[in-house]
Amino acid sequence: MVLSSTLTGSDEYVQNIFASRYVRNPLPRFKMPESSMPKEAAYQVVNDELMLDGNPRMDLGIFTTTWMEPECDKLMMSSLNKNFVGMDEKPAPTEMENRCVNMIANLFHAPIGDDEKAIGVATVGSSEAMMLAGLAFKRKWEARRREQGKPCDKPNMVTGANVHVCWNKFGRYFDVELKEVKLEEGCTVMDPYKAVEMVDENTICVATTLGSSLTGEFDDVKFVHELLTKKNEETGWETPIHVDAASGGFIAPFIYPELQWDFSLPLVKSINVSGHKYGLVYPGIGWVVWRSKAELPEELIFYVNYVGCDQPTFTLSFSKGSNQVIAQYYQFIRLGFEGYKNVIGNCQENARMLREEIVKTGYFELVSKEVGVPLVTFSLKDNSKYSVFDISKALRRFGWMIPAYTLPPNVEHVAVLRVVVRMDFSSNLIDRLVKDIRIILEELDQSSPGETS
Ligand SMILES: *Cc1c(COP(=O)(O)O)cnc(C)c1O
Repeated sequence: MVLSSTLTGSDEYVQNIFASRYVRNPLPRFKMPESSMPKEAAYQVVNDELMLDGNPRMDLGIFTTTWMEPECDKLMMSSLNKNFVGMDEKPAPTEMENRCVNMIANLFHAPIGDDEKAIGVATVGSSEAMMLAGLAFKRKWEARRREQGKPCDKPNMVTGANVHVCWNKFGRYFDVELKEVKLEEGCTVMDPYKAVEMVDENTICVATTLGSSLTGEFDDVKFVHELLTKKNEETGWETPIHVDAASGGFIAPFIYPELQWDFSLPLVKSINVSGHKYGLVYPGIGWVVWRSKAELPEELIFYVNYVGCDQPTFTLSFSKGSNQVIAQYYQFIRLGFEGYKNVIGNCQENARMLREEIVKTGYFELVSKEVGVPLVTFSLKDNSKYSVFDISKALRRFGWMIPAYTLPPNVEHVAVLRVVVRMDFSSNLIDRLVKDIRIILEELDQSSPGETS
């Protein structure tokens, strides 16, 4: 690459970045460099380092969106310099955020009435959304306990061991004990009986998961609701339910409309969903929605007016980019219910195809079920010669990134590979992946010792 004479100093006669001191001398890693460098050189250095990362579209372990339409890329690029907070009195992104919240609340069957109107907010992801939902439960529970003159120093939350690590984070950051229902062989979701049995007077909520990140399976929210309603009646407690629908929130409404898991169940007080997973937006956006304003304690809401707007704020962050919300709004109006249904339906169909192909190899056992998030988790039938970790490592040669991991306690002897089927993982790519897996299996068979046949 030949770049013009913008290079200065000792490089003033050098026309080419790769002959300059910028590629010879390593950049300091623990302090800022003393002097500046030309923009072309900085670009090259940073870009080269990023080049070493794998191609995100071949990372089949991640749920987050890796492709959007060029029109949306354009919208996002042109709003890079737009802060989400306090631009003027009626900033458009805030208006779009409100519309998105309404659309999501409606999608999740939030009740509409004089005293019940859903409220929600855009976050950086489901993690921030869950922190907010957890905090709201904790404060509500504390207020109730104080009113009853009871101690409120030992809050707990009941979850399954299939939950995402962000509940563990919430527990530690905000001093809430996590009571986990252990998984069992053949049951990799939260057992509703055991969960409700664990509920006591200190339980701030039962946290269910719609779409475990381990296996894609849905917790039986409806059955948890049934058992918990009974328990609440018997004890006089008011233990609520949260649904972590990070991935399932944009799956179930479109392809499992008959499944009851959302605000149609009265004890479900809040739901989070990741805009950057099947909400089809690039990483950096999540949503939390409460079924009514009454579920979000007033003390968590701040009214800022020093920048000339009195937009209430109840997120953990303040300034952030606007482009994520703009992109989410674009996707909602661009695709509509019909479009999401098509996209998710395609993912489901592709997941079914991949599942069949994986079974056909004869080497694997499926761990994920048919119903759930469109992903395929599978384990090796025979672990004696090589493991799923070896397969994962070997597939990197073709550029595929497929995580291998063990399941949580009680089923930790099961090691799996996970392929998340996203919108941009086409049937052509599935063909290629399966071919590559077959090549790897053959190679591993040949190189593994103890092979007698
Ligand atoms: C991805 C995921 C999260 C975390 O969400 P982020 O949007 O990445 O913060 C939480 N729970 C489940 C079930 C998930 O799949």
